[in-house]
Amino acid sequence: MTAPATATASAPQTSTTDQPAVPAVRLDGVVKRFSGEQGKRVARTIAGQAGDEVVAVAGVDLEIRDGEFFSMLGPSGSGKTTTLRMIAGFELPSEGRIFLHGEDVTTKPPFDRDVNTVFQDYALFPHMTVGENVAYGLVVRKVPGPERVTRVAEALRMVRLEGYDNRKPGQLSGGQRQRVALARALVNRPRVLLLDEPLGALDLKLREEMQIELKAIQQEVGITFIYVTHDQEEALTMSDRLAVFNHGRIEQLGTPAELYERPSTAFVAGFVGTSNLIRGEAAERLIGRPGLYTVRPEKIRMTEPGAAVGDDEIGADGTIRSVSYLGPDTRYVVSLEHSTELMVTQQNLDTSSMEALAASGRPVRLVWKRKHALRVNE
Ligand code: ADP
Ligand code: MG
Repeated sequence: MTAPATATASAPQTSTTDQPAVPAVRLDGVVKRFSGEQGKRVARTIAGQAGDEVVAVAGVDLEIRDGEFFSMLGPSGSGKTTTLRMIAGFELPSEGRIFLHGEDVTTKPPFDRDVNTVFQDYALFPHMTVGENVAYGLVVRKVPGPERVTRVAEALRMVRLEGYDNRKPGQLSGGQRQRVALARALVNRPRVLLLDEPLGALDLKLREEMQIELKAIQQEVGITFIYVTHDQEEALTMSDRLAVFNHGRIEQLGTPAELYERPSTAFVAGFVGTSNLIRGEAAERLIGRPGLYTVRPEKIRMTEPGAAVGDDEIGADGTIRSVSYLGPDTRYVVSLEHSTELMVTQQNLDTSSMEALAASGRPVRLVWKRKHALRVNE
């Protein structure tokens, strides 16, 4: 058992020459439209769509580095799975090109791509043992018996399931089944592994354990992982970089810290973590300028009404409208003038739940640093 990985970046390979490294995956102006009966069924879910056509992916340019843990994060219907399926070769783009390690694979079938996919629903063969499930891809590709045995053992060791060869999937827990699915993909030694919400069916505790394990496995094998999720915490903890999808487009791409600390749009600010948006009259009054701004709830300090405010700070008086005690912190909703509300989280350093909950209705002053009010786009 290796030590659990921390959230530090795993230093994707960079070229030692002046030439930029060839990306593991490159998408160039990729669009996917679905039409006809299939499209009709879902057309109403996208506002302003002409006829019976659905634009699932609306023009994506993307470069994923070799050896990187890359996530596609976004709400349901934002085009993540469709993008992944085009990289795998299960869907053909309507426009644009797809490159794997510099090779144009746009029209190549899935089996001609050095890529494997792990799905949420495991898709294990229930009548086969764990060993047979993992060996399946090697049998199909006529890998000789002795080599098969070694590679299956190696794959099971990677996912920490050595000795489970003879179990049936029905005798395993959900987390163990997902590891078998992972071993089944790793045994083929793909250069790129695609994972579509692979932990979605697991309960929270197991999911958190598997996040750490998946990251450790990725670092150990060193292959490129492309991970689809709608869970922002999952994407933040595991990824070297991530892309935030919305309506079939990438709204922002960067490291977890970049996206959290420098969201470029209101959507990213609200989807990656929680955030307050300040706009219109409230922006002019509080920030002193028009525009749209975001302030993270943990950057706001709550003090007594009338407390001093520094030159580099902004202060606003209001009333605590609601209190949620969350254990390590408490979340307050504070109403200011002009029907503006700000969410504030405070660590419970020495506040008890009783004290926190009793704060409802109290007048307070909110104070935050000017630099923590970030200008964002709509
Ligand atoms: P996500 O994985 O982010 O939830 P998807 O890529 O599955 O999003 O879907 C993006 C959009 O494309 C959705 O509106 C979805 O309903 C639509 N879509 C996906 N697959 C098909 C299909 N085979 N036929 C028609 N529409 C589809
Ligand atoms: Mg999906």
